[in-house]
Amino acid sequence: MAEEKRPLNFIEQIIEEDLQNTHKREELKFRFPPEPNGYLHIGHASSICLNFGLGEKYNAPVNLRFDDTNPIKEEQEFVDAIKEDVLWLGFKWEKECYASDYFQQLYDWAVEMIKNGDAYVDSQTSEEIAMQKGTPTEPGKESPYRKRSVEENLDLFEKMKNGETPERGHVLRAKINMESPNMLMRDPVMYRCLHKSHHRTKDNWKIYPMYDWAHGESDFIESISHSFCTLEFLPHRELYNWFVEKVSKEGELKPKQREFARRNLSHTVVSKRKLMQLVEKGVVNSWDDPRMPTISGLRRRGYTPNAIRKFADSIGVGKRENMIDVAHLEFCAREDLNKTAPRVMGVLDPVKLVITNYEEGKEEWLEAENNPEDESAGSREIPFSRELYIEKEDFKESANRKFFRLTLGKEVRLKNAYIIKGEEVVKDSEGNITEIHCTYDPKSKSGSGTEESMRKVKGTLHWVSAKHALETEIRLYDRLFSVENPDGDKEKDYMEFVNPESLEVITGYVEPSLKSAGVQDKFQFQRIGYFCVDKESKEGQPIFNRTVTLRDSWAKKK
Ligand code: ATP
Ligand code: MG
Repeated sequence: MAEEKRPLNFIEQIIEEDLQNTHKREELKFRFPPEPNGYLHIGHASSICLNFGLGEKYNAPVNLRFDDTNPIKEEQEFVDAIKEDVLWLGFKWEKECYASDYFQQLYDWAVEMIKNGDAYVDSQTSEEIAMQKGTPTEPGKESPYRKRSVEENLDLFEKMKNGETPERGHVLRAKINMESPNMLMRDPVMYRCLHKSHHRTKDNWKIYPMYDWAHGESDFIESISHSFCTLEFLPHRELYNWFVEKVSKEGELKPKQREFARRNLSHTVVSKRKLMQLVEKGVVNSWDDPRMPTISGLRRRGYTPNAIRKFADSIGVGKRENMIDVAHLEFCAREDLNKTAPRVMGVLDPVKLVITNYEEGKEEWLEAENNPEDESAGSREIPFSRELYIEKEDFKESANRKFFRLTLGKEVRLKNAYIIKGEEVVKDSEGNITEIHCTYDPKSKSGSGTEESMRKVKGTLHWVSAKHALETEIRLYDRLFSVENPDGDKEKDYMEFVNPESLEVITGYVEPSLKSAGVQDKFQFQRIGYFCVDKESKEGQPIFNRTVTLRDSWAKKK
């Protein structure tokens, strides 16, 4: 499919300019640098599509780099999940890299910096250091340890590395400028002591580099040309450059940090830390709970990689943070699934329909098209008999002229089958409808070519044959948070806005062809929405997740 022509976004403009002035095409190289402290979410999808998308556009390599410098929060489980998600989205990385692989190099550089008088060991508490930082308008104060001799610094730093000093005893700081207007330049911490086992380096290290020290250097080691991060790192750029300057040589290509706006999604939170809370507090069942905005949750819910990539591409990259309505994500899912999902019939809230003039015991197998959007999808056969289920809401005893579904005395078509006419209702002692009786026109069979089959009636209903239908568990999902921006209230915690009705489990009836549906298979339940087989299904007994309704029903509810 030909790519639509669109103007260059500002990131591409930066690259085009660099190609004209400073960079050769073969020098372009990007990376996606997640911290393995949780599962990836839809915000990360934007960053993945940006970086790997640039890789595709410029035919440049893209590394997957795990920013694993904090052993307290990072785990192998998250590394594995991140790899699975990036692959599932359809991207291939050039190299799988880990900041932890550079710990030795970073350490060696830090030693050099100490020798050059660019770093020192500070033995104050973190509270004391914080007190001396100053404010954006007041300069900071120099640490009493700032003038330590190189020998003493080297000795202490080695002891820190060997775990011979207490965890909170010392830090290594860059010696920059306590009066800099940029607070991040006021002697930032490069290393802290942490006597924790790391998921990869195990107990080899007792000191761990801070983000600012590790990130730019990792980019430099990997020869990344452009390092894209979110806007909150804009003030870090000066420090990023300062550190890269310290370790690079004249004439060497230095990575360039550039910033783009974080993408937020309405009615949810996109922050690993907050998503972890939802899992830990049992608000959801797991990171891949279909209500989660994680890539794994969306996958389980029935989203396709295509839908997510379309979503990311359509919102593009921006310079200002904004909130994207989740309805747009749902729209992307519908658009993609409409083209690819086979049509089936399922009834979620059944009432029995008896066709009184249809022979008892008779059954017919009727041809049904699998996907009108895709001729190659072919057709299947569905059973029809005297007793069917239809949706309760598709029948009204008495209705006005605008009700195009079944009512007494009027005709509707049963999808892929016959035209029927409502005759009477049977009720229980409390007045609830237990059965609807109707008659059918035997000559009106869909596709039979008769005059009656062409007859136009106002409504078409989906149905299943009662005795053939498969009873299944169906999970209906709604928004996880009942407000657009759960983070937007200064007084209340986002947890207070969790939608208590985000999951409804019902029993529905679906056509028997679905007995053989496999995990992750996706369908359009005609007139209802898109559904996907959940991983908790058993052989022959699928459980369906509702991915998205056929139309945007939320807009109406409001
Ligand atoms: P979180 O707060 O969810 O942990 P993070 O930014 O700390 O997010 P990282 O693992 O450090 O998560 O992110 C990897 C990359 O994804 C970074 O370049 C980051 O800027 C980008 N990213 C994270 N969240 C978003 C978002 N909502 N929109 C766009 N890019 C994002
Ligand atoms: Mg983070």
